Amino acid sequence: MKVVLASLTRREKLFALADDGWFPSEAVKTGGVAATARLRRLDTTSWSLAGRLCVTLSLSCDRCGRAVPLPVDDEFVHQVVAGTSDGEADAEVDDENAAQWLVTGSALDLAEVFRERVLLALPEKVLCAEDCRGLCAGCGADLNQEPCRCQ
Ligand SMILES: [Zn+2]
Ligand SMILES: [Zn+2]
Repeated sequence: MKVVLASLTRREKLFALADDGWFPSEAVKTGGVAATARLRRLDTTSWSLAGRLCVTLSLSCDRCGRAVPLPVDDEFVHQVVAGTSDGEADAEVDDENAAQWLVTGSALDLAEVFRERVLLALPEKVLCAEDCRGLCAGCGADLNQEPCRCQ
């Protein structure tokens, strides 16, 4: 969903991504996804974006492969800054929740913003339980459920 920045005023406007066609292929979700953004103009070259992402991601345990749901309720603020394609590309990002979002061109692609939030929400490590015993490397038994059959 593209928002033409010049159409925004200082009065806050609410946008919602209507479908989930934007959802990144790197992530799996269960159920629907709600992605909303409140946008307003700050000055001639910057805008404020307050976004919210609600979704339940479906991950799988790194040890046993069992599905692990991860509810995400992510609220974030971006300062949207208009830049040129060759300069200003190195906008400082010091806090991922109040980061600058550089836009080249006249429109802000909200799908791109929310795709990045989903990817940021993906944890590096996923365990179904702290003490998950995983699968036996020899027989493939799920050691949480059954004993090893190797002998
Ligand atoms: Zn597990
Ligand atoms: Zn085994």
